Amino acid sequence: MAEKTGLLIIGASQSGVQLAISLRALGFEEPITLLGEENHRPYQRPALSKEWLQGEVGNESLIFRSNEYWDEHHVTLVKDQRITEIRKNPDGSGVAVAASGAEFPFQRLALTVGARARKLAIDGGELAGVVYLRNADDALALKAIVGTASDVVVVGGGFIGLEAASSLKKMGKNVVVLEAGPRLVGRAVGEETAQFFLDAHRARGLDIRLGAKITRFVPGSGEADSVAGAELAADGGAEPEVVPAQIVLVGIGVVPNTELAEQMGLAVDNGIVVDQYALASDGTTVAVGDCANMPNPVPGSPAGERIRLESVNNAIEHAKVAAYSLMGRREDYAGIPWFWSNQADLKLQIAGLSMGFDQTVVRRDDERGKFSVLYYRTGRIIAADCVNAPLDFMAVKNALAKGQNIPADAVQAAAPDVQLKTLAVPLAPAPA
Ligand SMILES: Cc1cc2nc3c(=O)[nH]c(=O)nc-3n(C[C@H](O)[C@H](O)[C@H](O)COP(=O)(O)OP(=O)(O)OC[C@H]3O[C@@H](n4cnc5c(N)ncnc54)[C@H](O)[C@@H]3O)c2cc1C
Repeated sequence: MAEKTGLLIIGASQSGVQLAISLRALGFEEPITLLGEENHRPYQRPALSKEWLQGEVGNESLIFRSNEYWDEHHVTLVKDQRITEIRKNPDGSGVAVAASGAEFPFQRLALTVGARARKLAIDGGELAGVVYLRNADDALALKAIVGTASDVVVVGGGFIGLEAASSLKKMGKNVVVLEAGPRLVGRAVGEETAQFFLDAHRARGLDIRLGAKITRFVPGSGEADSVAGAELAADGGAEPEVVPAQIVLVGIGVVPNTELAEQMGLAVDNGIVVDQYALASDGTTVAVGDCANMPNPVPGSPAGERIRLESVNNAIEHAKVAAYSLMGRREDYAGIPWFWSNQADLKLQIAGLSMGFDQTVVRRDDERGKFSVLYYRTGRIIAADCVNAPLDFMAVKNALAKGQNIPADAVQAAAPDVQLKTLAVPLAPAPA
């Protein structure tokens, strides 16, 4: 009899790890192989731009589970193998082939391949000192040179850029953030939150330039291969400004890893297209986390609306959905998507998804440093960005989970110290 090959999970990070853990918790008895291309034990990424970069926590604290855990749960961990080809049979079984030539047969397949840093194609982009921050090797490369630099340019004012900029500032570096767009954090937050972060970071000493047009990274005169600065487009006839930097950290977003799915003929559209049970278009492969484009999981969201989320919470919850699918059960995404980002003393928590909002209400308490933006769609609360305001965050997250509303006019009428949870009401029934 042929040996049982079980489930192959490609991508050994937040989603892949959770999928293996959830499957064993549900009683999945088939073999599980958790395979990744990185030459590290599976680790958590969020601290790479925060506590780990600042030296507050060490490498070991980032590791998800001990080797003993995987042994005890009969999960075979494979490191340092990049899958380049998948040969799949109509029944869902097949073989994954690695760049090394090694082959990994499977009965079922999970793609938890995540996303990679978007590269900035620019003159000087290959100079030493131009770095990215998506994985442990990136982070180790940054840490190896950080001690030698006094000036850092961070390209991109998104979450990762602002987290890293805040950490590097705390570490005593002169940090300049160059953001190409007209505001910070792109479309992940609304205008009010973006403005709050701009003001707050500038007040904390970060030099942030919006609408920055970088023409090239400039090499140093001594070491020709090392970066010495970022050149900005000249204003009128003036000499172009060069912002000095011995390190340029590029944080301009990520690209989902969809190549394997494309090669398998799966539907791909800004991520691997999956249904609400994390099943890809072939009906047998599951795709989870940063690589997956899924139906908006927030209750009450418009039918057919899809989203690709990049967050720890989503990787965990989506993996649980996929685990049920692989067990032959159909369970909806549980809970409300949420996200956090820590930048200096600014602790942002986002509950829900603000896409499609048509109204906002701002609650701020400058004395206590609290700031929240509530997002509404046709009168119904759909999300909130909360800075140093965990009670607002919890109130909105709970209201969304219970199908309640926190009416905009009630929030507007309330003082900032009135607790949001006291304003939550059942949703008005839809008109007959
Ligand atoms: C610096 C940083 C800070 C962050 N901070 C936060 C935060 O504060 N809050 C938050 O909610 N989220 C944060 N995130 C995002 C969060 O870490 C991601 O959403 C999460 O890691 C997604 O998990 P994933 O498993 O879906 O994908 P990934 O973490 O991208 O993992 C995919 C894995 O698959 C591997 N892989 C890809 N292709 C192949 C292949 N062909 N063969 C073998 N292996 C392959 C990759 O190497 C990778 O290890 C942060 C991310 C970074 C980088």
